Amino acid sequence: MARVVVIGAGLGGLPAAYELRHYLGQEHQVTLVSEFSQFTFIPGLVHVALGHVPLDRVQLDLGQLARRHKLEWVQGKVERIDPLKKCIYTADRDLAYDYLIIASGSELANDLVPGLGVYSHSVCTPVHALAAKDAWEEFCAHPGDLLVGAAPGAGCFGPAYEFVLSAEADLRRRGIRDRVQITYITPEPYIGHLGIAQVHQARQLTEGLMQERHISTITNAEIKEITPDRVYLADGRSFKQAYTMVLASFRGAEFVRVSGLGNAKGFLPVLPTLRHEKYPEIYGVGVSVQLDQPDKTPVPIGLPKSGQMTEAMAMVAAHNIAVDLGVLKRPLEVPTLEALCFAEYGETGIAYIAAPIIPDPKTGKRRYSYAARGVWVNWAKASFEHYFMVKMRFGLGLPWFERLGLQLLFGLSLSRPVPEDVRQIINV
Ligand SMILES: Cc1cc2nc3c(=O)[nH]c(=O)nc-3n(C[C@H](O)[C@H](O)[C@H](O)COP(=O)(O)OP(=O)(O)OC[C@H]3O[C@@H](n4cnc5c(N)ncnc54)[C@H](O)[C@@H]3O)c2cc1C
Repeated sequence: MARVVVIGAGLGGLPAAYELRHYLGQEHQVTLVSEFSQFTFIPGLVHVALGHVPLDRVQLDLGQLARRHKLEWVQGKVERIDPLKKCIYTADRDLAYDYLIIASGSELANDLVPGLGVYSHSVCTPVHALAAKDAWEEFCAHPGDLLVGAAPGAGCFGPAYEFVLSAEADLRRRGIRDRVQITYITPEPYIGHLGIAQVHQARQLTEGLMQERHISTITNAEIKEITPDRVYLADGRSFKQAYTMVLASFRGAEFVRVSGLGNAKGFLPVLPTLRHEKYPEIYGVGVSVQLDQPDKTPVPIGLPKSGQMTEAMAMVAAHNIAVDLGVLKRPLEVPTLEALCFAEYGETGIAYIAAPIIPDPKTGKRRYSYAARGVWVNWAKASFEHYFMVKMRFGLGLPWFERLGLQLLFGLSLSRPVPEDVRQIINV
């Protein structure tokens, strides 16, 4: 019997545990370790922060899910891993593993910008979203200048655009839009970059929408400091603020850094098969994985790791472990890193597709990329969120019909057998 442990029960960890359960059968043990007792659908937090949906709509009880779907369940914060002894340490338990999937997401590097997270809000965790919501109600009662954006090094811009454009729509609904000056401040080189350069139509559509909604934009911006009433940039400019929501740059979880498993920022260096470069029993999935930004921008930015890419990685890691264990007689796979993101922008939305997100290093080209605008994006996003929560309740990772749907509707493939050239490099 193999002991397979998954650390993290987010958009990567929970589907990975379900996929493992599906492949491995009851003779192998699948254990899910998570700091919190709830699964949170993180993309839903933008609307929690604006008071549009209650937090419990985007959460599920992990203990119940684990019991229902025959997973071992450990609630605890992982403090350290000893990869040589193959042991995980939480405050009150040691857990041995034969295979390990790390899907622990990221931590917010608030300390890199003085005042970030102190005088600004975030939508990245349930606690932050609830605090942002209370402050939003207070702000709407006493409106002033609204600043939204991202810190230097950030790689996740979609939620900042969603927040600023949904907040703008909310202010109009409340009849107070004319009392609020809105500014979007970003390290992106242009509006609509979102950490992925040259997506066809992304710039035109996103810039156009920001102009339509009279939102001022500052690009190539390096936020240097946030004080109770101002935001300062490295170039000397500063802006008044009564409410600020700034996304921090990410770093890997602390246990990854202290266990010597990550790069300088604590992200896991993995092979294309998602296996750790140094420890073959460890796999990385989702935001915890190192993916370098290929676009050299004036202000550094990261590469976004979308939810759907994360799920594809979860599926691949589980598949490859099942192959390694001899349970699955199929070739090892790699994720294609083809990304689809539905962004809800008030009364309309924009879908961004980059297949794959990292262009071919030789040609500098992608298979294809495009952005499309319409209210249908909001319907698609709401339906997908509902579908995602239902499949988590039913213990499904990435079922065949979802893969087929993504292929038929958007031309996306999520994984493929290890290509021959990669096979030679990584020696599998
Ligand atoms: C506000 C926001 C909105 C977003 N919107 C979208 C969107 O619309 N579409 C899209 O495609 N993507 C979106 N994303 C990106 C998407 O949320 C991520 O791709 C996804 O959450 C990554 O999944 P993950 O499993 O890597 O990390 P997470 O979902 O963050 O899960 C990490 C898990 O690890 C656990 N953990 C961390 N440290 C430890 C520890 N030491 N011990 C035990 N457990 C630990 C956490 O508690 C959590 O359960 C958004 C991201 C944010 C922040």
